Amino acid sequence: MADGTAPSGTMRLSGWGRVPTATVRAHRPERLRTVGAAVTGAGARGIIAYGAGRSYGDAALNSEQGVLLMERLDRYLAFDTETGLLRCEGGVALADIIATFLPRGWFLPVTPGTKFCTVGACVACDVHGKNHHHDGSLGNFVRSLTLLLPGGETVCCSRKQNSELFYATVGGMGLTGIILEVELQLRPVETAWIVVDYVRTRDLDDTLNTFHERDADYLYSVAWLDCVAQGRGFGRGVLMFGRHAGAGELPNAQRQNPFGIPRKRDKKLPLDVPEFVLNPLSLRVFNNLYYATHPARDSVLVDYNTYFYPLDSILQWNRAYGKRGFVQWQCVLPYENGVKSLEDILRTAQQRRAYPFLSVLKRMGESSGGMLSFPMPGYTIALDFSVRRGLFEVLDELDKEALVQILTKPKNAISRQYQRLFEFENVRLRFTDDALEAVAVMAMERKLGARGLRMILEDLMLDLIYYLPSNKKIREFVVTKEMVLNQKINLGLLEKAG
Ligand SMILES: Cc1cc2nc3c(=O)[nH]c(=O)nc-3n(C[C@H](O)[C@H](O)[C@H](O)COP(=O)(O)OP(=O)(O)OC[C@H]3O[C@@H](n4cnc5c(N)ncnc54)[C@H](O)[C@@H]3O)c2cc1C
Repeated sequence: MADGTAPSGTMRLSGWGRVPTATVRAHRPERLRTVGAAVTGAGARGIIAYGAGRSYGDAALNSEQGVLLMERLDRYLAFDTETGLLRCEGGVALADIIATFLPRGWFLPVTPGTKFCTVGACVACDVHGKNHHHDGSLGNFVRSLTLLLPGGETVCCSRKQNSELFYATVGGMGLTGIILEVELQLRPVETAWIVVDYVRTRDLDDTLNTFHERDADYLYSVAWLDCVAQGRGFGRGVLMFGRHAGAGELPNAQRQNPFGIPRKRDKKLPLDVPEFVLNPLSLRVFNNLYYATHPARDSVLVDYNTYFYPLDSILQWNRAYGKRGFVQWQCVLPYENGVKSLEDILRTAQQRRAYPFLSVLKRMGESSGGMLSFPMPGYTIALDFSVRRGLFEVLDELDKEALVQILTKPKNAISRQYQRLFEFENVRLRFTDDALEAVAVMAMERKLGARGLRMILEDLMLDLIYYLPSNKKIREFVVTKEMVLNQKINLGLLEKAG
């Protein structure tokens, strides 16, 4: 059956990185009304929505269990031509929204670097684009959602109605239910063109300074980083600042048709590129070439596909990484220590000879409020690595490094919050380096990322916070690795010491 009430069959699926793969029981509903039966009949391990499979890892997989393919749930439900408010089903592709509404003067308010993904998934991932420093993530433009809960109940949620559910769903990676419908505010534009200023930078300092000085002036900003260059060129890059072109900025010939762009023939990678092709030497050659061919230029008119979706021009480009697939590693580093943290991370990767094929740096602004949303103010770096032996150990190391930075460096870092709290009791609080690392590793093991750091420290420190006011003799307290691993501070021993 293809109506979604029964699985249409088992199939092997993966995300865009092609690793991992999973055999799943796939449901492909044709109509919203049949989705409920597929969800309630899914069994204990439930069912997860699968959009277009353009997220990299296993986010949309549910091994041996139910997966709900959203591809047929792709209808427009309402559009207000005055305000640009669109209501559509969750399986509508961003590429279709652009094709339908750009000729009418409306573009996506936020877009990831591919248009071949679905709007429901983009809400579930609370995707960010090149305008995060300016506008935040997609969640900021979602007026309301219709959500199908695991029990089969359909709920409407927004900032005012069922707001907790709304904020848990925006960035909730599909874990609160299936996003059936999205009400999304589109952005008015006058043309399909972007005015781009290209800036080539000498090294990491130059890259970050240029970003810092200039990106407030542009709606869009992004940097390509050369992560293979060492020595003086370490961290050099090409920054691309952009804004939507006004109709008056187009050459005369294009003004007649401001939403028309040149048609390009789709290219397709016909086979998996052998793994040996991507090696440090070929990456160095590629990076040198990219750097050399992107000199500083101002006010270049570029069509929206070239600016936002350069990789989409080659279909199945993920095959370039070979049969073993690839992973994307991404983090946000708070601004306070951004330069140093980024440098540490890039150097660790280089020292371990893990060279990303693609490295993209952006600046992020405030979070959308999504409880599990990824963005927060800081630099975000995304590194694409082809899978090879030992890669995951290197990535664990990068995770640990980034989490320790988050734990300690921002002005309002969690460890600093505790230190300030203890100062009220005239107690100097210290964390040993290996204690901080242990907290980071624990957050990684629990698959909680940065959000797990607070939870772990709160569990550990709770008893102590109540204990200290009653014991005035303690002047200094050191949190050790052992305490973190045991998740306990032995107050009995403190009593004796006190
Ligand atoms: C070239 C490229 C560039 C990218 N650039 C960016 C970027 O700049 N910023 C960024 O944030 N991301 C970026 N991404 C990641 C990608 O755009 C997002 O993850 C996007 O949401 C994937 O959409 P999808 O339809 O393919 O979803 P899938 O990969 O199929 O699913 C992603 C997640 O959404 C959930 N989901 C899917 N549909 C629904 C639904 N209807 N209801 C509830 N949950 C659902 C899934 O369960 C899964 O957890 C990029 C990806 C690629 C390939």
